[in-house]
Amino acid sequence: KLSKRLETVASFVPSGAVVADIGSDHAYLPCYLIHKGIASYAVAGEVVKGPFESAVGQVQKEGLTEKITVRLANGLAAVEETDHVDTVTIAGMGGPLIVSILEKHPEKLNGVTRLILQPNIHAKVIREWALAHNWAIQDEEILEEDEKIYEILVLQRSTMTLTEPEIIFGPRLMQRKSPAFIKKWAREKENWQRVLQSIEGADQTPEIEEKRAELVALLNLVEGV
Ligand code: SAM
Repeated sequence: KLSKRLETVASFVPSGAVVADIGSDHAYLPCYLIHKGIASYAVAGEVVKGPFESAVGQVQKEGLTEKITVRLANGLAAVEETDHVDTVTIAGMGGPLIVSILEKHPEKLNGVTRLILQPNIHAKVIREWALAHNWAIQDEEILEEDEKIYEILVLQRSTMTLTEPEIIFGPRLMQRKSPAFIKKWAREKENWQRVLQSIEGADQTPEIEEKRAELVALLNLVEGV
């Protein structure tokens, strides 16, 4: 059974989509998308040999070799023009790694109309990247599974404007304020307060002052949500 996290990612894949799942590991997501009749075809990309072999094995085991192509490649290099990929999913990595994958081969996104990104941490950098590259947030989700809280961003080609708090908290997520959202930011707030306390007695170097100012600003922002 697919995790709630990946099931939620799958729920944003349009019916009939041609999907590239980058960093696919066991290719569980593409297999699910084909079995459920959501995607018509999928590419599973993996840069590490072990997970690549797991993906190949899983696709064979599930009898899906005609519908899923597994490629050993770095990021979007797994996507070929003849695939006609329209939807890219990247899940289970940090926001900065997801952004570096999107930036490395921008031409591979030419035919892509939807990005479904699930950063484990630092979703903020994805919203900044989207703002700078004319992708707009179509939807967002936040969920808790096994004590971990995950964010999912669904992007489409359009422009948007975001305020500083919206970049950090997510425009939709801060409107909805779901239990997972409240829990995530209460946790972050505790962390920031702990760090602030720990540098309270430290020497007043410019670096410490900068860190202190940053933490105070974040705490003020989170108070305002
Ligand atoms: N996407 C799956 C999920 O959400 O459950 C697997 C997540 S796993 C934690 C991250 C996977 O991404 C690993 O298998 C890793 O090898 C792969 N990966 C990391 N950087 C990559 C890159 N630049 N290109 C392709 N795969 C990458």
